[in-house]
Amino acid sequence: MSCHRPESAAAATHAVPGLDHNPVALMQPRAPAATPQEMKNGARVKSNNVAPQGVYLPNYNVLTPHMRSPEYVQMSTAAAITLGLMKGRMYRCECTRCLNLLLTYPEGCRANCAYCGLARHREAERDYADRNFIRVDWPAVPLEQTIDIVARDGAASPFHRMCISMITHPRSDADTVTVLQKWTDRIDPSTIPVSILSNPTTMTREDVERLHGLGADIFTVALDAATPEIFDRTRGKGVQSPHSWAKYWEILMDARDIFGREKFGAHIIVGMGETEHDVLALVQRLVDLGGHSHMFCFFPERGSLMDHLPATPRDQWRRVQLGRYLIDYRGARVEQMSFDGAGRVTGFGIPQGELDAVIDAGVAFRTSGCPGKFREDVSACDRPYGDSPPSNIASFPFQPNRRDVAKIRRQLRIVERRH
Ligand code: SF4
Repeated sequence: MSCHRPESAAAATHAVPGLDHNPVALMQPRAPAATPQEMKNGARVKSNNVAPQGVYLPNYNVLTPHMRSPEYVQMSTAAAITLGLMKGRMYRCECTRCLNLLLTYPEGCRANCAYCGLARHREAERDYADRNFIRVDWPAVPLEQTIDIVARDGAASPFHRMCISMITHPRSDADTVTVLQKWTDRIDPSTIPVSILSNPTTMTREDVERLHGLGADIFTVALDAATPEIFDRTRGKGVQSPHSWAKYWEILMDARDIFGREKFGAHIIVGMGETEHDVLALVQRLVDLGGHSHMFCFFPERGSLMDHLPATPRDQWRRVQLGRYLIDYRGARVEQMSFDGAGRVTGFGIPQGELDAVIDAGVAFRTSGCPGKFREDVSACDRPYGDSPPSNIASFPFQPNRRDVAKIRRQLRIVERRH
């Protein structure tokens, strides 16, 4: 029996009532369906061969143009608004500080990660450039036009960082090099530093060295899963996807050697079935290696193989956000923290006054990622509403105010448990 679920079905976006964490038994992806031959590998886009005309906004009802990197890249709606390429306003945000440039091809990403809107199985229903990715559309834009705008703005650019986001595709390594070269030919990387969000599956150590030599500042690996079992279930053999935990760690360790301390990191998605202890132990391992963790709250992306599952309960997410911040920036260690039988945090191992001060400062609950120009613990990569709707914010893309912090305290519930 197929577990295939049509895209028109409503996605589950709320936590299961009564659950304060997403347990491993619940977080089972559905199986990918078979793709009709005529929809495989971007065949529809390639056979129609419609020439692109500048910026392309995702539209399920038109023939998607034939766009490829390095001539074209995709970017978040927030980045397109910030560049003036799209009209729109973002709730409580003026702009985004990170320009994420995602490589794009009609064949799309050849991996099949269960939580991702760009995954290969979606070619059965939607051309690559029309797929949603982390909650929002990603328009496709000519690279030269993007660079022209940023170069014209010079030091007045709102961007604190640019990030080239690779996907799993045979051209991805070479095109990442080309995009980086084209960018640094026109824009000084000391003015707007460049991060690489890598795809280890197709990479070698020499690829990592080349990107460092060309001026990339930070190299990150989207580990995404916190344990090898969840990795295999969500982005390995469990969903007919090519990634392996061992290869991701191999390239992460290469990045540590080549980019050095504070210049490498890993993405972790919280709430895919791992325990809070699993995540914080991984955060500690990364800090001990000299790197950082960049965290995302699991959101059941529409059309993905996990869109029937609940978003991460906010109390689980807040506890992990807080623990991660204390380990990354306040010298706390996971061994000092206490956990219950389900691996949930019951104590952070620091005096209550210090904990209160960190909670009230609010920074721990902002998006995490590569740093910008404000301060080390504030990410340039603010990803407005990339892991939650504005009505129930998971990662704050701005400084939380007093009302936000009061809500965070209610969500944390760690305070209530202590009484
Ligand atoms: S490799 Fe990245 S873009 Fe491709 S399916 Fe996995 S998470 Fe999505």
